[in-house]
Amino acid sequence: MREDLRDGSVRLREPTRAWVTQCALSRICGVCEGGLGRPIAFVGTPRERDRNQFHQPPMHLACAEAVRSGDQVVVTTAAFEFLRPDRDDPDPAPRFEPSAPV
Ligand SMILES: [Zn+2]
Repeated sequence: MREDLRDGSVRLREPTRAWVTQCALSRICGVCEGGLGRPIAFVGTPRERDRNQFHQPPMHLACAEAVRSGDQVVVTTAAFEFLRPDRDDPDPAPRFEPSAPV
């Protein structure tokens, strides 16, 4: 979900479970809420990239580039899996796994 700042820039809010679930199931962009095509972009930390699991919802590439901060990376994919962790998972947050590199 985006937050518009006074200087005209935008940034990402901490994603809520309800929001990322809605983005996943409706296949909408986490920034502008428009329908997703391809490629699908994810914004995350280098660590999320290395793990291939992202906590922010899927986005249009242009939206992802607009909201990424300096220490974040953008990864593109043609498809993703939506992971809903079970009780034993050390990371309880739902997340996305890019599954079809472009
Ligand atoms: Zn968008």
